[in-house]
Amino acid sequence: MNVGHSKAVVVVGAGPAGLLATIAAARQGARVQVLEQMDHPGLKLLASGGGRCNLTNTLPAADFPARFGRQGRFLEPALTVCGPDRLREFLAELGVRTHSPDGFHVYPVTDSAATVLAALLQELERRTVPVRLGVNVTGLVCAAGRLQGVRAAGEVIPAAAVVLATGGCSYPELGGTGGGYALAQAAGHALVAPVPALVPLVTRETWPGELAGVSLAQARLELALPGRLRQAAQGALLFTHRGLSGPAVLDLSGAVAAHLARQAEAPLRLSLLPGASAVHLQEKMEHWRKDQGRKSVARLLAEEDLPQALARTVVRLAGLAADRTAAQLTAPERRTLVGCLTECPLAVTATEGFARAMVTRGGVSLREVEPATLASRKMPGLFFAGEVLDLDGPCGGFNLQWAFSSGWLAGRRAASYET
Ligand SMILES: Cc1cc2nc3c(=O)[nH]c(=O)nc-3n(C[C@H](O)[C@H](O)[C@H](O)COP(=O)(O)OP(=O)(O)OC[C@H]3O[C@@H](n4cnc5c(N)ncnc54)[C@H](O)[C@@H]3O)c2cc1C
Repeated sequence: MNVGHSKAVVVVGAGPAGLLATIAAARQGARVQVLEQMDHPGLKLLASGGGRCNLTNTLPAADFPARFGRQGRFLEPALTVCGPDRLREFLAELGVRTHSPDGFHVYPVTDSAATVLAALLQELERRTVPVRLGVNVTGLVCAAGRLQGVRAAGEVIPAAAVVLATGGCSYPELGGTGGGYALAQAAGHALVAPVPALVPLVTRETWPGELAGVSLAQARLELALPGRLRQAAQGALLFTHRGLSGPAVLDLSGAVAAHLARQAEAPLRLSLLPGASAVHLQEKMEHWRKDQGRKSVARLLAEEDLPQALARTVVRLAGLAADRTAAQLTAPERRTLVGCLTECPLAVTATEGFARAMVTRGGVSLREVEPATLASRKMPGLFFAGEVLDLDGPCGGFNLQWAFSSGWLAGRRAASYET
């Protein structure tokens, strides 16, 4: 309920982080409003999970931080107040039941992101909280060393506390304009250069393009940088007209993009049969030679569950004739073939950019934000939530969970902020 003498809170951005922050602040009794630059709230939420909204997953909350990499511990306080179980309970209280058809990914039972957005907006309506659309916040108003409000369309909107939940810069047509970064910088915050993440990759090699549409249920991909701890991802992979996509590729793409920000190419090693070691494959080929010597190598590879077109490509990459039989393989040829299957080299020249990136890596540096409250260490009264911060997770509901959890924490803290 909005109470006349209660604290004025402005939330900038009506994505999942901003909407949760607004609800949390309203429940604390703050006089809160949410300002959104687009003509519709939650556009990215509506597009999430192909419209189904993979809003979290069934992993225990304690296992979430590790999935966010080096900075994952920053998530912990937000997950404590709104972890995956609490999020599902909260949505159930709003009438949105959730399910996990595969035991991992969690969706609303309607399999529609619109159900989630409608429930959040109804909760705000019930509490008579204004959701102001088409309002682009262009400045923070600071005086006497603390935040006094925001500036939008020439108007100053006073606030005792402001939650910046402006997202990143992926999918600009869904509101990913990166507009919040300049606001944070003006308040004295450092920015970690944003790069696209969860994004398809473009390869220098053209053979992946020839296989466009072919997919593998399991592949392993490694960013092969000499002398460093190698980053890797495993899962489904899809060949595209320009290179690679699919969960394994998307999960590694942030690290690849960060490397491409400094270098022209990123070297990858692709394992097409991640369940089989090089030694195992060598032994298998020896068996093929003895027992199935008249069959072509391409056919035998297809029998190992490689799609036929890919099996033919691997034979070609190994420098073998298309009809080369298992009996004809020499020892060096076997080694080359095993190399193509377990460590196929690829050079990534680009990502498909922010236009196709599901999230942004980089953003407002975590060093200047208090994890326990999500309050700015630079500007009293300023709070952050969601993707605007330098934190991103892999595919599988991690990023929406972070947006919801951080929104909840920031909204509560902004509402109880003492000037
Ligand atoms: C196609 C697609 C599918 C996805 N699927 C999933 C999925 O299934 N599961 C998952 O976990 N994650 C998914 N994601 C990622 C997830 O949607 C984001 O991580 C999440 O939306 C981030 O929430 P946010 O509230 O921080 O930012 P956003 O959702 O980007 O919301 C920020 C809002 O702030 C507004 N804004 C920005 N600047 C200003 C300003 N200056 N003034 C006023 N308003 C402003 C924007 O218009 C926007 O509405 C997907 C992303 C995309 C693009």
